[in-house]
Amino acid sequence: MKKPDDLRLTVGLCADCVHSAKITSDRGSIFYRCELSLTDSRFVKYPRLPVLSCPGYLQIPDLGYET
Ligand code: SF4
Repeated sequence: MKKPDDLRLTVGLCADCVHSAKITSDRGSIFYRCELSLTDSRFVKYPRLPVLSCPGYLQIPDLGYET
């Protein structure tokens, strides 16, 4: 499993965005789907990673404990 810092490098902002959904395929490949793409045409369903800049980015709040 990748550490958060590694994810930031390979996935970018989608790694900790509230609009991101992590999808694992039957073959074990991991994709990050942008849920904003369902309602806003500015966003693509599967953004090219790493996403370095995004107007929809909203960081998942740090609740101070592991979920
Ligand atoms: S809004 Fe931007 S950062 Fe968030 S999941 Fe969509 S593409 Fe990724």
